[in-house]
Amino acid sequence: MLASTFLIVCLSIYLVSSALDVLIGARQPMPDQSFDIVVIGGGIVGLATALQFGRAFPKLRLLLVEKEDRVARHQSGHNSGVIHSGIYYKPGSLKAKLCVEGAAAMEAFCREYGIPVEICGKIIVATSAEEIPRLQGLLERGQANGILGLKMLDKVQAREIEPQCGGLAWLHVPTTGITDYVAVCAKYAELIGAQGGSVSVGTEVKGISRGNGETVVETTRGSIGTKYLINCAGLHSDRVSRLAGEKTEVTIVPFRGEYYDLVPEREHLVRGLIYPVPDLRFPFLGVHFTRRVSGGVDAGPNAVLAFKREGYRRTDFSLQDMADTFAYGGFWHMAAKYWRSGAGEFYRSFHKPAFVRALQTLLPDVVSADLVADGSGVRATAVARDGSLVDDFKFMCSQNVLHVWNVVSPAATASLPIGREIVRMASSGFGLASG
Ligand SMILES: Cc1cc2nc3c(=O)[nH]c(=O)nc-3n(C[C@H](O)[C@H](O)[C@H](O)COP(=O)(O)OP(=O)(O)OC[C@H]3O[C@@H](n4cnc5c(N)ncnc54)[C@H](O)[C@@H]3O)c2cc1C
Repeated sequence: MLASTFLIVCLSIYLVSSALDVLIGARQPMPDQSFDIVVIGGGIVGLATALQFGRAFPKLRLLLVEKEDRVARHQSGHNSGVIHSGIYYKPGSLKAKLCVEGAAAMEAFCREYGIPVEICGKIIVATSAEEIPRLQGLLERGQANGILGLKMLDKVQAREIEPQCGGLAWLHVPTTGITDYVAVCAKYAELIGAQGGSVSVGTEVKGISRGNGETVVETTRGSIGTKYLINCAGLHSDRVSRLAGEKTEVTIVPFRGEYYDLVPEREHLVRGLIYPVPDLRFPFLGVHFTRRVSGGVDAGPNAVLAFKREGYRRTDFSLQDMADTFAYGGFWHMAAKYWRSGAGEFYRSFHKPAFVRALQTLLPDVVSADLVADGSGVRATAVARDGSLVDDFKFMCSQNVLHVWNVVSPAATASLPIGREIVRMASSGFGLASG
């Protein structure tokens, strides 16, 4: 008798609560916390975006979530540390505009907050007759982008700057610099906190549901309700977009860039930065020499297809990541167009003498024994359905969610104006009034 009464009471409670759910349309569970803006991704772009949002909208409650135990664990902590001048990018593109502006802003930011920075300049070297007109083309592009101080050099002038460099023609870019982007990210995170925002590390986004005016983000630390959501998830930005129900126009294909280090006794061979003339069909610059702001000289990075989105070793492999790449038609279109360059990159990756030969065109005296394998980084390269590599930075705003795709190099350099640009797009897309 007691048991049947208990059962009837339980059943009634269940029926009443289900009926209420239907009546008030409460399909989404109540989130554990609520914010006005949530930014996904604690790389340099997500952090700069959160920083700029806090500056523009100080009253909004802002949270940045990062799945790793600290910020800058992926692209932003595995790059060359170069403050690019903006010479490579198509005049009028966002990349060109935001890089030129970003380079000046990055130098000023580093100086203001005591982050190591050095404007050491760079030499771009044409190593064959065929590259000389392309080098001239870069000079014109750089001038069109408003970069100051560009100058073609003769051999004597080039050797005054980089005494050991080889080549046939040289372009000097005096405004290129170097910094420590991990330190920049740490400072962005600190400033976000000082402005009243929060950064929650160890918080992975697993699901996104969009309801009436509110988006609920399911994370490994509970659910978060937010009015506005910005997806800056880098190598996972396409997946996070799909979690939010978007049909993505691009898929992220990971390309690993591997570095060697010049041994300390040979670091004197390089004073600043020595780069080849790049093939502008690709968003990669070709292997080069880069002095690190903390000391040491890197050689690389190459660009090989990675078998894992966050895989930093050649042996790293993820079945899901590979399945996503190989199931994507755009990947096969890209492979059909560029298989020759891709095969060359693989060969150089597994065959050190080939890597060294590419470097010797810039620095004839370097030999295999001067180079020891160092770390790597993985680029989040957005590939369109037709197999083209998306050239410019790419963003997509859909109702109250903004997705950031393809913020590849020079996005670290340009992070401050990229953040500001995202805030501008989001404010108009979301209908936010500043203040
Ligand atoms: C080898 C290499 C060399 C480069 N060299 C330069 C250079 O010299 N100069 C320059 O300006 N640029 C350079 N770049 C480019 C630059 O580093 C990147 O464009 C920039 O770091 C991108 O920042 P991001 O914030 O978009 O991505 P990331 O730094 O990758 O950050 C994305 C973050 O999102 C997090 N995340 C992903 N999914 C989730 C989820 N579900 N939940 C929560 N968090 C999530 C990730 O953990 C990650 O921390 C280089 C890049 C590479 C790879």
